[in-house]
Amino acid sequence: MAEYDVDLFVIGAGSGGTRAARIAAGHGARVMIAEEDRIGGTCVIRGCVPKKLFVYASRFTEDFEDAAGFGWTLPAKPSFDWPTLRDAVANEVTRLSGLYRKGLEGAKAEIREERAVIEGPHEVRLQKSGQLVRARHILVATGGWPSFDPPIPGGELGISSNEVFHLPVLPKRMLVVGGGYIALEFASLFARLGVAVTLLHRGDNILRGFDEDIRTRLRDALKEAGITFRLGCTVERIEELPDGSRRAHCATGAPIEADVVLVATGRRPNTKGLGLEKVGAELGPLGEVVVDAASTSSVPSIHAVGDVTNRVNLTPVAIREGHAFADTVFGNKPWTVDHGIIASAVFTTPEVGTVGLSEEQALAAGHELRVFESNFRPMKATISGRHERIYMKLVVDAKTDKMLGVHILGHDAGEIIQATAIAVTMGATKADFDRTVALHPSAAEELVTMRTPRAG
Ligand code: NDP
Repeated sequence: MAEYDVDLFVIGAGSGGTRAARIAAGHGARVMIAEEDRIGGTCVIRGCVPKKLFVYASRFTEDFEDAAGFGWTLPAKPSFDWPTLRDAVANEVTRLSGLYRKGLEGAKAEIREERAVIEGPHEVRLQKSGQLVRARHILVATGGWPSFDPPIPGGELGISSNEVFHLPVLPKRMLVVGGGYIALEFASLFARLGVAVTLLHRGDNILRGFDEDIRTRLRDALKEAGITFRLGCTVERIEELPDGSRRAHCATGAPIEADVVLVATGRRPNTKGLGLEKVGAELGPLGEVVVDAASTSSVPSIHAVGDVTNRVNLTPVAIREGHAFADTVFGNKPWTVDHGIIASAVFTTPEVGTVGLSEEQALAAGHELRVFESNFRPMKATISGRHERIYMKLVVDAKTDKMLGVHILGHDAGEIIQATAIAVTMGATKADFDRTVALHPSAAEELVTMRTPRAG
């Protein structure tokens, strides 16, 4: 009898796990992958993909308004039907989940649709069938889960980003608790769909860790888009009112009521009950699997990739980590993921795109800086009459001329920053940006036409 049933057992068929399974199988490994929910994971099922489709829907509001300036007359006030959007998005999610399944099947990875728990350094127990699988390597790719920690009394009256995609009706009033990616993206899109949104955040500004100028300008733009901000508000309690609506109490100020409370106070690595502690795998303070650069845990046969390791919690990072792991362990092609320069976007309207260091981070790291800024009205806003600005900031090391960070707030910031990230990853200098010929007329051309550093 063979020593192991499979070469690789992957727990979790999200972005990282699926990539690892497919690549490992391509290298000839016998692979089994278990998923207790739907195949595709957070990004496909209840994250990036359905969220971005909602964001597209929310931006039509602006397009309809702007069209008049360009000569269009719309027949009547456009109306929006929530169930149509919700169900179309759900169908697309089902289609994508099917593609993920096909990809795994095509790679000849054996799929088990049930929960799997680790019982030994090389043993995994499938919970529904009871089957014990002996694996040469185990990969934990179970992602994260919304965290209500510490629990708010009445927090169960709120929903998380898991449920927000399935709301039976579009609420009239929504409270959003938190000031990070998820809170802001949903606050922004629901406000544009006509919901009266109030954002309750414990900090004095949103998006902690982002460049200060971006944080403040985004907050102001979202206020202008109709979102009410209650900053410095720690939610102490949520209660249900006789009519079914919710009332949230902040530590200070008047309580506030709404039909739905979306709690977006972060996510935690999904390791509870997985058996990792029992086999001696080290977990960090949030329950994350502690891994080395090769994504191996303190137990040599157990590895982990993606949000469950709480390194950089972004889908493309999980995919890379899964790919690197599979190439290294099964393909005899060792490589590791560089977590240093990673672009990201916040899909609010206006959008944020950012890569590299913020001005504050660069200063804290001891760089002497030249900072370039551009704040302009996009061409489309001239005729549409929309009060809209695009803001761009370049953070440059004064001694080496190296581009340390690029930060954009405005239309297409995510698209622009992805391309800019190539230059920053390559170690581009400001002089490289300067000798790049502008593409006119575009917003992105501002990145290569800024010449005068900010004074002071
Ligand atoms: P974030 O960590 O981005 O934000 C959490 C927010 O909740 C912060 O504003 C934080 O405040 C606040 N918070 C945390 N704990 C509490 C608490 N106990 N009481 C009150 N407020 C609290 O998490 P998200 O849930 O928004 O997103 C999770 C991860 O998912 C992100 O880190 C990101 O990596 C990923 N993501 C990426 C997206 C993208 O790339 N566009 C989109 C959505 C998610 P404070 O700042 O004070 O700590």
